[in-house]
Amino acid sequence: MNIILLGPPGAGKGTQAGLLEQKYGLKQLSTGDMLRAEVTAGSALGQKAKAIMDSGGLVPDDVIIDMIEARMQQADCVKGVIFDGFPRTVPQAEALDKMLAQKGQALDAVIELEVDEKAVLARILQRAAEDQAAGNTPRKDDNEASFRKRMQEYHAKTAPISQHYKSQGRLSVVDGSQPIDRVEKDLEAIVSGAAGGGPQAARHMP
Ligand code: AMP
Repeated sequence: MNIILLGPPGAGKGTQAGLLEQKYGLKQLSTGDMLRAEVTAGSALGQKAKAIMDSGGLVPDDVIIDMIEARMQQADCVKGVIFDGFPRTVPQAEALDKMLAQKGQALDAVIELEVDEKAVLARILQRAAEDQAAGNTPRKDDNEASFRKRMQEYHAKTAPISQHYKSQGRLSVVDGSQPIDRVEKDLEAIVSGAAGGGPQAARHMP
């Protein structure tokens, strides 16, 4: 079972992907987390990506597609994946379609979390303030200037993906401005429907 969570930065994709991961035994793949790990490790990829990420731009498609392709070969992805922050462009979506087709796997649900821009900016600034208060270094892109750039990229390059999946009849939209547990319930209903049963049945899918 493979699921994509779409939505602007701060929509709650990471939080909800984490909840789905536990519930359905799937693997959450966050390209943002993977890239931040590369930056921390100081790898060649991380060095290439850092400035782009800090400014709120998008890392080139070929880099992202190679990274996801390699990651999906690993054993923890065999039961299925929740993609969080990927795909972010139509070429990435097309590459994923191809990747899954080659593996003989389906895309079971594509769920867009809808939240308005003012609300997501407030969430992102709150995340930065909470990190600071907890003594952690806030993300370099959790500031208003990078957020504006991330939103621009989202509207220009990521929002068209919804149409890609809508035309495939796969897109579901959820109100991401609801409390976390309500969003979780809405997602569960969609995912359970896609799995042809409840979470229990989904857990046993190959
Ligand atoms: P995120 O943690 O998903 O908000 O991603 C943080 C940053 O990592 C983004 O602003 C981009 O610079 C980069 N990034 C993450 N995922 C992708 C992707 N699928 N394509 C291009 N850039 C990405």
